[in-house]
Amino acid sequence: MSTLIFGHKNPDTDSVCAAIALADLKKKLGEDAAPAVQGQLNPESKFVLDKFGVSAPEMVTSYAGKQVYLVDHSDLSQSPDDLGEAHILGIVDHHKLGDVTTGHPLECWIWPVGCSCTVITGMYKFFNVQIPKEIAGIMLCAILSDTVIFKFATCTDKDREACEELAKISGAGDMQELGVEMFKVKSAVEGTPVRELVERDYKDFNMNGKAVGIGQLELVDLSIVDSVKEELEKDIAKLKEEKGNHSVFLLLTDIMKEGSELLIASDDESVVEKAFGAKPSNGRAWLDGVMSRKKQVVPNFEKAFGA
Ligand code: MG
Ligand code: MG
Ligand code: MG
Repeated sequence: MSTLIFGHKNPDTDSVCAAIALADLKKKLGEDAAPAVQGQLNPESKFVLDKFGVSAPEMVTSYAGKQVYLVDHSDLSQSPDDLGEAHILGIVDHHKLGDVTTGHPLECWIWPVGCSCTVITGMYKFFNVQIPKEIAGIMLCAILSDTVIFKFATCTDKDREACEELAKISGAGDMQELGVEMFKVKSAVEGTPVRELVERDYKDFNMNGKAVGIGQLELVDLSIVDSVKEELEKDIAKLKEEKGNHSVFLLLTDIMKEGSELLIASDDESVVEKAFGAKPSNGRAWLDGVMSRKKQVVPNFEKAFGA
């Protein structure tokens, strides 16, 4: 029976590519390992795998009785529901340590870097295993995606160095160009149901007893969503009602202008000005320099809500 390697629920490109890369490394180290995903691939991940001719991992939602490695997360809320019945061999991640625990020692590679694939690049080096060309290509894309082409505050020198090396091995050419090509795919909204866009990267938070939902779309150019912006506004208002939330926000992040337009559905719009000093008009506010939900948006809102 193969050991299964998988990333978080609602998989992103790092979760998918880190699982594939770690399975490759583990196989070369003599372990019978296979990558898996917990859900459908998003358009960006599909594009990345197609571009480098790598097949998609199998979708697996139940892991009871299996040996597993976790990549790109260590939070139970992002893990399979039956993780408690699996045997966790290890974790490879770049987030804060979560609440996954084990009754036995495990192999942990958790680094404060911008992407799980940066850690795995280091693991290949540590074990002196050559990175295959196509795996280098998809890992490069994962790092460009997670660091928003090196623009995110989470990006470190280790991520940049890993990318230089992966670009050489993969022959992927200009990284900036590759990154923009990928984010154009990520930005595509045509033919996608509005609710799918709102929920593509959506999380609910509890802020001082108030339910606050924050979604994010990373775009190469805000004008891409001009045609659907009103529908997005209607849908976050609807989602707010459905969930009984205090607020639902949608960040439309312009990765080239390095800022976000915030669409607001809230019982109290003034929290936006409290959090960011920007006065909303018609349920929208431009937040200059704001790109990261984790590092900028959530902490500011938490303060504004008095959490
Ligand atoms: Mg991720
Ligand atoms: Mg990641
Ligand atoms: Mg991400």
